[in-house]
Amino acid sequence: MSTQFLKMPDDQGYFGEYGGQIIPPELIKIMNEINDSYEQVSRSRAFQQELNDLYADYVGRPSPIYFAKRLSKQQAGASIYLKREDLNHTGAHKINHCLGEALLAKHMGKTKVLAETGAGQHGVALATACALVGIDCEIHMGEVDIEKEHPNVTKMKILGCKLVPVSRGTRTLKDAVDSAFEEYLKDPVHFLYAIGSVVGPHPFPKMVRDFQSIVGREARQQFQDKYGKLPDIVTACVGGGSNAIGIFTAFLNDDAVRLIGVEPAGKGLDTPDHAATLTLGTKGALHGFKCYNIQDQAGNPLPVYSIASGLDYPGVGPQHCYLKDLGRVEYETIDDKECLDAFMTLSRLEGIIPALESAHAVAYAMKIAKDSSAEKSILVNLSGRGDKDADFVAEYLAL
Ligand SMILES: *Cc1c(COP(=O)(O)O)cnc(C)c1O
Repeated sequence: MSTQFLKMPDDQGYFGEYGGQIIPPELIKIMNEINDSYEQVSRSRAFQQELNDLYADYVGRPSPIYFAKRLSKQQAGASIYLKREDLNHTGAHKINHCLGEALLAKHMGKTKVLAETGAGQHGVALATACALVGIDCEIHMGEVDIEKEHPNVTKMKILGCKLVPVSRGTRTLKDAVDSAFEEYLKDPVHFLYAIGSVVGPHPFPKMVRDFQSIVGREARQQFQDKYGKLPDIVTACVGGGSNAIGIFTAFLNDDAVRLIGVEPAGKGLDTPDHAATLTLGTKGALHGFKCYNIQDQAGNPLPVYSIASGLDYPGVGPQHCYLKDLGRVEYETIDDKECLDAFMTLSRLEGIIPALESAHAVAYAMKIAKDSSAEKSILVNLSGRGDKDADFVAEYLAL
């Protein structure tokens, strides 16, 4: 492979045929201004220094790489290693890009950061980053989700963000997106819309990737330093795709390293209850960019499902679509049952309760470790911890 990946996306925000800015002309102008300031601000020493200091002293970076000895032994095959993003402050990888976005907003002189949230994970990470940076934060959330996600709602309130309940339509994520976007359009010059994954119009897939790529840079160096080689396989779960692209980016030019993204097969790929966008989706526009997505004949997004609420997005980051077509990254699926099995196995063999999202990647690693020789190594991006899922799983499995 060449350096072709490092220059992605092009000036219009395309990764091959995916991405871009499929939005009204007035918004293109605003997005291009965000891109210009991002290019300028993110290169300044002051910004880089501030972000790196926060990663170290606030988030607790670098996150360790841990050899899961008992889990590996049970598979009787390859060795499984975990990149411990679950140990970050707030318990997942999302803080990496939320801090970047909040700092960017501050350096750009914005007065308010806005976003929607579904299960509340993005909302809490963003509210945390905004409290720290000292900028107003407004989160839109559907009333149905507010009832379901009590702990996250409480945290957002404590952190001082303005929580806007959305009562229109289905009162879930989709309506929260519309509501937050309307508020953003009232003053896009002074507000920043902080997208929660490597999705949306250019420059968001690029910016969020850049902020998350710290994960792969650390992991590559740590693995090399500790084991004198690179892992044979790197794997991560894929919702919008931010934790996956975060760990993959540093390895894209390492031809010998297989990269595998894991999508949720939910109740089965032969049912409508999955969110396997890259595996079963078709090309189309969604939320301002082109990607593979789960849609009907007319191009409207269809409902998607996963036991892990962070993975049930009908689209996926444009760079993943490009990497799939290119064959550089493989995309596989894990269903709810396999996910729950990995959740319990990792908890009981290693004392690590993973997020249900991350358990998809663990499940896939377990599956392939069985069929691999003992010298092979598999590095899993453990994107988050499972505190948020503990009650749900205990009830679901009647523990
Ligand atoms: C939100 C979330 C995900 C899914 O988002 P990506 O952008 O695909 O990474 C995965 N894991 C955890 C722990 C999350 O909170």
